[in-house]
Amino acid sequence: MLFTGAGSGATGSAQTAKYVIFRDDDVAPNADFAELQAVNQVHIDKNVPVTLGIIPHPWPAPSGNQLIEVNQTFLEYMQSLTSNHLFQFAQHGYTHLDVGPSPEGPSEFYGRPYAAQYDAIKQGRDDITQAFGVTPTSFLPPFDKSDNNTLKAAKALGFTEYSTAFADFMQSGGNLDGMRLDTISIEVTNASFNEAPSLTSTQTLQSLESATNQWLNDPNSVNTFVVLYHPADFEGANYTVSASKLNTLANYIDYLQGTGRVQFTTLDRSVTTTGNGAVASSSSVGTTAVGATDAQNDSAVFSILGAILVVLLGSILTIRLRRNKNRPNR
Ligand SMILES: [Zn+2]
Repeated sequence: MLFTGAGSGATGSAQTAKYVIFRDDDVAPNADFAELQAVNQVHIDKNVPVTLGIIPHPWPAPSGNQLIEVNQTFLEYMQSLTSNHLFQFAQHGYTHLDVGPSPEGPSEFYGRPYAAQYDAIKQGRDDITQAFGVTPTSFLPPFDKSDNNTLKAAKALGFTEYSTAFADFMQSGGNLDGMRLDTISIEVTNASFNEAPSLTSTQTLQSLESATNQWLNDPNSVNTFVVLYHPADFEGANYTVSASKLNTLANYIDYLQGTGRVQFTTLDRSVTTTGNGAVASSSSVGTTAVGATDAQNDSAVFSILGAILVVLLGSILTIRLRRNKNRPNR
């Protein structure tokens, strides 16, 4: 009964499987650490996985592995997450510095020679592996801006998943140069969290729900909805962690779970859960399938119309406060 509303004629749940992926960008030694911990705790409490987009080398110096050498608290915290299957470690560029040519930028990679891109991505990948003992398979270009050499380098380095904006390659979902593409569907910014004077937190949650509802009920939409945010988006007044913003995320997760129509996964599909709406440990096997694969997405045909609709939806309903939404961390 839950699966009859999309007009797809599907008779089984497999055909109507819809996935939500949370993507937390700008996870780095210089990230807002309290916010990072707090938002991760929401995911733990809800038993909902998240893909962490890690910036390996956010400062010009030192030249070594900044994930190891700069911030011991961050290092140990991240190492502690590696045993929790709710957290996927992905690579979000190398420096996250804008070296893209105008007007195509900002970008860390766009327009740079293949060898330079390859070397930077490889160094970042190796830094993550050395620091955390996890080799990332998902690549997330900073500023959601890259080019064909970025794809070629990521593929050559063994990445199997790629996540960026629709506009980067004018493609939403499907196969991108041999990698699985998951396009950003919506961005949850600070503005969405009630910093704009005209918004209330209720309206913000409603706008998230509205966008999600349209995606759920569009038979042509891609089957994965990628929700992007940053640790800094959970900052409140006077550099404190905002309880109300955390609450908005928690309520949104509750809403998603309440639809009964989505599952939560990561870009690498290493874990899939239905959430649980309550405190859970990583051992809550009743609602968690570790290593579950999503064969449906591999074979799905993505219509251009559906793809464009999803992107337009995301663009319209994303309220942007910051001009540079993907700026490096402060
Ligand atoms: Zn970023």
